[in-house]
Amino acid sequence: MPELPEVETICRRLAPLVDGRVLSALDVLDEKWCSPLSPDALRDAVEGRVIARLWRRGKYLVWECAGEVFLLMHLRMTGTVLYDAPTQTPYVRVRLGLDDDHVLSFCDPRRFGTGELVLGRPALEEFFAARLGVEPLSDEFTSEHLFALTRGRRAPIKALLLDQRRIAGVGNIYANEALFRSAIHPLRIAGTLNRRQAGALREAIVASLRAGIDAGGASIDDFRHPDGVKGAFQNEFLVHGRAGEACDVCGGLLVKFVAAGRGTYACEHCQKRPRRRRTH
Ligand SMILES: [Zn+2]
Repeated sequence: MPELPEVETICRRLAPLVDGRVLSALDVLDEKWCSPLSPDALRDAVEGRVIARLWRRGKYLVWECAGEVFLLMHLRMTGTVLYDAPTQTPYVRVRLGLDDDHVLSFCDPRRFGTGELVLGRPALEEFFAARLGVEPLSDEFTSEHLFALTRGRRAPIKALLLDQRRIAGVGNIYANEALFRSAIHPLRIAGTLNRRQAGALREAIVASLRAGIDAGGASIDDFRHPDGVKGAFQNEFLVHGRAGEACDVCGGLLVKFVAAGRGTYACEHCQKRPRRRRTH
């Protein structure tokens, strides 16, 4: 599933190719993509507009068009955006034509990806404020910020990291990697972290996301760059998907279990499992 580094990778590669171009055609082949908005209504709103800027917020790809018209793409499980995809490319749900005759194809085998229309910058700010917390690669994401997020939280730290309303863009892979890097067990109750641990976790989140971006994202299954090339971060995973392999730090066996409803990988030598709390 594409997370912040994968969406950032798509954004960085596409932006130079689309910024300043006219979005000359929007062809929605699967109307579920923009439901409840109709494909016709969406087309009327964006077609013929200049793409002022393509950017990212959390896991959203934001097509900022002239006149404060925003097309928000969420890739969900299997979405990817290809630039001039081969003609036989399967699972294309949407095509965006540019005035220089290049075509972007939104491919999405499982069809969970969405397209949403937001009009005006205040509405955009409201949209994100209701759904997304701090950007983890921004200056706002300090150790103090993360420490404050954990206060009073009785959920496992992993659940907090996956909650988009608290930290935007971190998903299962980068949560697993960051918790390992900071030697914090995924089931640790968030509110029990001390300041030092919150600081270490903040550093680890930033380091994991930056490593993912530097490697062009992770391609476990469907994720591709706009030119169809896979990312390489899956070759650098410290724990994710590596149950039964040796920990790079201590040589112990990495394990898999479920935390926050997701497949979770850890080294329980390096990341000490919290003791079960007494009920009285
Ligand atoms: Zn270890």
